[in-house]
Amino acid sequence: MIRGMTASSSPAGARERAAQLRAELERHNRLYYAEAAPEISDREFDALLRELQELEAAHPELAAADSPTRRVGGEPLEGFRTVKHAVPMLSLDNTYSLEEMREFDARVRKALGEETVEYVLEPKVDGVSVSLRYERGVLALAATRGNGKEGDDITANVRTIRAVPLRISSDAPVLEVRGEAYLGRAAFARLNAERERAGEPLFANPRNATAGSLKQLDPKVVAARPLSAVFYATGELNGVAFETQAEMLRELARLGFPVAKLWWTCRGIEDVIVRAEELQRREGELDYEMDGAVVKVNSFRRWRQLGTTAKAPRYAMAYKYSHEQAQTVLKAITLQVGRTGVLTPVAELEPVELAGSTISRATLHNEDEIRRKDIRVGDTVVIEKAGEVIPAVVSVAADRRPPGAKPFDLHAHAGGKCPACGGDISRDPEAAAWRCENLDCPAQIRGRIEHFVSRKAMDIEGFGEAIIEALAGETRLRETVDDGLFGARTEEKILPPAVRDVADLYALTPEAIELRRPNRAADAKKQSMKLATKLCAAIEASKGNELWRLLHGLGIPNVGEGLARKLAGELGSLDAVMAADEETLARIPDVGGIVAGSIREFFRHGRNRAVIEKLRRAGVRFDRVERAAETANPDGVFFGKRVVLTGTLAAFTREAAQEELRRRGARVVGTVGKTTDLVVAGEAAGSKLEKARALGIPVMDEAEFRRNLDESGS
Ligand code: AMP
Ligand code: ZN
Repeated sequence: MIRGMTASSSPAGARERAAQLRAELERHNRLYYAEAAPEISDREFDALLRELQELEAAHPELAAADSPTRRVGGEPLEGFRTVKHAVPMLSLDNTYSLEEMREFDARVRKALGEETVEYVLEPKVDGVSVSLRYERGVLALAATRGNGKEGDDITANVRTIRAVPLRISSDAPVLEVRGEAYLGRAAFARLNAERERAGEPLFANPRNATAGSLKQLDPKVVAARPLSAVFYATGELNGVAFETQAEMLRELARLGFPVAKLWWTCRGIEDVIVRAEELQRREGELDYEMDGAVVKVNSFRRWRQLGTTAKAPRYAMAYKYSHEQAQTVLKAITLQVGRTGVLTPVAELEPVELAGSTISRATLHNEDEIRRKDIRVGDTVVIEKAGEVIPAVVSVAADRRPPGAKPFDLHAHAGGKCPACGGDISRDPEAAAWRCENLDCPAQIRGRIEHFVSRKAMDIEGFGEAIIEALAGETRLRETVDDGLFGARTEEKILPPAVRDVADLYALTPEAIELRRPNRAADAKKQSMKLATKLCAAIEASKGNELWRLLHGLGIPNVGEGLARKLAGELGSLDAVMAADEETLARIPDVGGIVAGSIREFFRHGRNRAVIEKLRRAGVRFDRVERAAETANPDGVFFGKRVVLTGTLAAFTREAAQEELRRRGARVVGTVGKTTDLVVAGEAAGSKLEKARALGIPVMDEAEFRRNLDESGS
């Protein structure tokens, strides 16, 4: 296009084109920041922006305060003007303890006179809080929190943040939104790297860098810092209203404001706690630092009922994640034998309170880690509970070491023998681990079965640790016999292990299981038999499982769930996987030489082949591959979840709902139990819903279900 020859050379044409470009640029900005679904490349975006800049330069009368060209930063300021917040920006009460979260809920329920309160749980973003004021859809003012009543006018700086819309499609006289400005993880690393090259002092953390940036008097400097923002609240509203926090978040997103990628509506505090833990586990999915979760009563009507104290609202609470530490005494180190025979050292601790729970065991990882940290039995150790749920020993208070404490030596500690079977142990030079060499080691067999039946493998319901132990070990049976000759007497029988490998599971009968049930004595015979029959049926049903479940369940070294799915999808049957040579295997995406080698090695073993032939004879399917589940988005809400459907859904038949869930990688199961992840409850849901509530399992109503289906694609 030859500039100057187009419609934009006439003033009216130029005005029209400028308006068009601004709308386009805002739209692409929104797609990029709020929806994470860009339609054009950065280059194309820059070209549009340049065209607008040139147009505005040629027609100064067209320049507008809300033009995206202003994002490059205006003139330096003398200082920041002080502005009063129409609605104060409050602080939040916070706690590290789940007990106090429950107390908060009790206070809220009491004040509202409700039995169950609906909450929203969202991340507590660790950025710099800002309040943005839109007047008739145009960004008019941006302010810092300051002392909560008054802050600084940082409009010129906030304008440079591309995630902040300069114009929104709302003609409300006033719409104030609040959130945090932040520097994303990658942006922060880049910024510091640049500063290092330039010989400038480094920022201690993203928060400091953000605060420092927003305090710059020269907006051009701010424009060069890749700040972003995320929003979670409103301030003054005029001509617009919301009823709930959830509605508000959705509406902000619709208007083009970035909102947290992870947030949930929850019924009751136990639901909140489950999500808070999920959020902590999934922290890595967020681009910003988070220092906890915020729980807020969902209904704004309830907010008004509850009110605020001088400092903080009564309807919200921050639950801070502690990377909390505690000190305690290491009483002993025990060794756990896993399914591959690896001996994992576990710390047995003097019980101690940590982040709201009592801890008496922690992981020590492996022998090398123990040596590196020089952890000795008798030491006072520091334990930490960070992101993961399992606490770990992180260091030793060396000044409190008792005399005579000896450095840890795993081989000596175990007396050279496997603690489970007494077999020899050997050091695996590659894995920094000691292993039990005995393939018949009962601890290994137990571990292999546990893995085989686990949720991400064959997913056979009803297998607890105790029943696995009972099936894989010997059972002492006391029976009353009366042969009429000598009268009644008690005889003791010893039953041999019922399963020695995973294929033996398929030969189990309800009777064989019943005889070995750990709770047999306590339960009535009929009940005991019923449970054994149920377990047997679950085993039987697993024969029809998809191939990836079987592949994962076999426990091939280096083949996790994801890789098992890939192998199943690419090769289509267990026989094809067994027949594939290393070259064929290594051609599959994500299967490197090492993995290909360990797959081949696994199938070379006569023992493994024998188990597989037993599985085949038992009628386990080797070739079921469902394309849909394989292509489901693993980040979707339903992926990998066990979902129970109950009640009547208005817009779906039961089958249709099941199909939608399956397509998103969920597993639809019939009964609510401890392992259920989610219950979708339609109209007139009954006992399953009650059970879910009792167990604290998250429940979705139909509206939420539909929203989540939409959000997680198909
Ligand atoms: P504090 O400064 O520890 O009293 O925590 C209160 C501050 O947390 C608020 O003023 C907000 O700036 C910030 N915050 C971060 N994320 C959220 C959120 N999701 N909801 C409310 N406040 C949040
Ligand atoms: Zn052993």
